[in-house]
Amino acid sequence: MDKQSIFITATQINYFFVCKRKLWLFSHNITMEHNSELVELGNLLHQESYAKKRKEIEFDGIKIDFFEKNKALIHEVKKSKAIEKSHVWQIKYYLYRLKELGVEVEGEIDYPLQRKKEKFSLTDKDEKVILNIIAEIKLILKEPFAPQKIDQKICKKCSYYEFCYA
Ligand code: SF4
Repeated sequence: MDKQSIFITATQINYFFVCKRKLWLFSHNITMEHNSELVELGNLLHQESYAKKRKEIEFDGIKIDFFEKNKALIHEVKKSKAIEKSHVWQIKYYLYRLKELGVEVEGEIDYPLQRKKEKFSLTDKDEKVILNIIAEIKLILKEPFAPQKIDQKICKKCSYYEFCYA
């Protein structure tokens, strides 16, 4: 496995699907204060819902919420109501990065507010898609200016909202 992923974090993979402008701003170290109620709720969920089970894993820009060793299963906890493409590729990227290190596991996204969970594994096709995503991210980040605003509903919940629309 060729390490194309070096320096690409799971957050960047997530932002690639959410908004290319957000990806560019974040990757160029333009950060905004993160104090919305949603973020606080997310932090609370992380602290309380999984407090007993948690054993966070962190390496090279990857932060996995917790790992169930006996099931060879990593978990990502999300506060949203729906399974989003960005969540799916974020957890698949974790699986990809772990595979690069010789660790083959499955992943599960937990939606505690909905009492839902969904399991994922990494296929050969997924690996090709991830390589394409990494290549696209690198191209976006080479651009001298941030991509255009997307004017979507999600902008109102984005930490860059004031930066983009003030
Ligand atoms: S406010 Fe909207 S356009 Fe601006 S970075 Fe966030 S999601 Fe992208």
